[in-house]
Amino acid sequence: MKHVVILGAGFAGLELASRLSASVADEVRVTLIDQNDGFTFGFSKLDILFGSADAAAVRIPYRELAKPGVEFRQERITAIDPASRRVTTDAGEYDADILVVALGAEYDVAATPGFAEGGFEYYSIAGAERMRDEALPALKGGTILIGVLGQPYKCPTAPFEGAFLLHDQLVERGIREATEMRVIAPMAAPVPVTPEVSQRFLDELAARDIEYLGKNRVVELDVPVKEAVLENGERLPYDLFVGIPIHRVPAVVAESGLADNGWVAVDRDTLETPFPDVYAVGDCVSLPMAKAGVFAENAAGVVADGVVARLHGETLGRRYEGEGNCYLEFGSGRVAKVEANFLGGPSPTATVVGPSEDLAAEKAEFGSSRRKRWFGA
Ligand SMILES: Cc1cc2nc3c(=O)[nH]c(=O)nc-3n(C[C@H](O)[C@H](O)[C@H](O)COP(=O)(O)OP(=O)(O)OC[C@H]3O[C@@H](n4cnc5c(N)ncnc54)[C@H](O)[C@@H]3O)c2cc1C
Repeated sequence: MKHVVILGAGFAGLELASRLSASVADEVRVTLIDQNDGFTFGFSKLDILFGSADAAAVRIPYRELAKPGVEFRQERITAIDPASRRVTTDAGEYDADILVVALGAEYDVAATPGFAEGGFEYYSIAGAERMRDEALPALKGGTILIGVLGQPYKCPTAPFEGAFLLHDQLVERGIREATEMRVIAPMAAPVPVTPEVSQRFLDELAARDIEYLGKNRVVELDVPVKEAVLENGERLPYDLFVGIPIHRVPAVVAESGLADNGWVAVDRDTLETPFPDVYAVGDCVSLPMAKAGVFAENAAGVVADGVVARLHGETLGRRYEGEGNCYLEFGSGRVAKVEANFLGGPSPTATVVGPSEDLAAEKAEFGSSRRKRWFGA
C-alpha cells in the first residue's frame, strides 16, 4: 500500500483525503495532519464578526472525520524534507510515498508596524472575535479605514464583503451618517479578475458611499495619533482601522526550500512541485490566480485524479483550470456569486451572478455538502 501524507486539513487537504478515500481506499493509506482540532470555513469568520454565530458553533471537530483509509493526526508539523519526503512533527516522523503540502497561508501582522497594537482584523477567528467584542461596540462614528496591507491575500472579495456588512450594521445602529468609510488597497480596482467584476464592486461601494482608494497601501499605523501612513508618505486619520494582514506561507514551508520565491512553485496543470512525488495545493502555491477555498478544493480534485492515475499506471487526463464559484455577502441576507476560471483559457473569465435569496440558500448548501463529504463516513 502506498502511503500518502497530506499536510494540512483545510479546504484542500480535506477534499483530497475524501476523494482518495472514496476512490482508492484499498490501494493507499492516507495520513492527514493538522495542528488544529477542528476546521472552520473562511466565510464563517464574517458570521463570527457580525454576531450571527460563535466560534464553537461553526467549528467542525476533526474527531468527526470518519473516512475509510484515512487517519487524522492532530500534530504540529515542524520540518518538511521534500527530497526524501520525510515530515517531522511535534509527535514523530512520517515517510511518504506521495507527499502533499496543503498548509495554506498565514498572517504576518508584525510586518505592518503599529497594526497589532492599533488595528483590528477579521481574517483569523480570534481577530474576528476581538473586533466584534471590542471595536464594534465602541464605535460611535468617525472614520473607518479598511486597508488591504499586501497582495496576494485570501478571498479577494472578503474585504468588500466586510465593508458591505459593516455598512449594514452601522445603518441599523443609526450611526452610518456619522461615519466615513474608505477602503485602501494596492489593486487599481477591487477584485481585478476582470474589469466588469471590478466595476460591479466599485458600483456597490459607491451605492453605499464607501470610498475606494486604489494603488495605495497602508505601511504603518501611527497609533498615538491614530493615523495610517501610506506608501507615498501621506497620512490618513482613522477612528477604526481594519486591516487585511500581509500573507505568507507558514514558516515550516518557507524553511523547507519549497517556497524560494515566497510561495510554493508548482506545475500549473498538475500541481506537482519540482520534487518527485511531492505536490502542493491550495493557498500555499504560487499560481497567477486568486486564493480561495473553492479553488483549493478544485485543485485537490486534480491532485486526487493525478495520484489515482499514477497508481494505475495511467496519465492524468485533465488539467487544473483554476476554476470555482465564490459566494459573497452583499448585506441584508443577500448573497451573490462570482463564477471564475483563471487558467482554463488565454485570460481569466469571471461573472457576478445575483445577489439573491436563492444564492444565500445555495451558499448554505455549499457548506453543509462539504461537511457531509469531508467528515461523513
Ligand atoms: C474572512 C474570510 C472569508 C473567506 N470566504 C471565502 C469564501 O466565501 N469562499 C472561499 O472559497 N474561500 C473563502 N475564504 C478563503 C478560504 O478560507 C481559504 O482560501 C482556504 O481555506 C484555503 O484552503 P487551504 O486548504 O489552502 O488552506 P487552509 O484551509 O487554511 O488549511 C491549511 C491548514 O494547514 C494547517 N497548518 C498550517 N501550518 C501547520 C503546521 N505547521 N502544522 C500543522 N498544521 C498546519 C492549518 O491549521 C490549516 O488547517 C475566506 C477567507 C477569509 C479569511
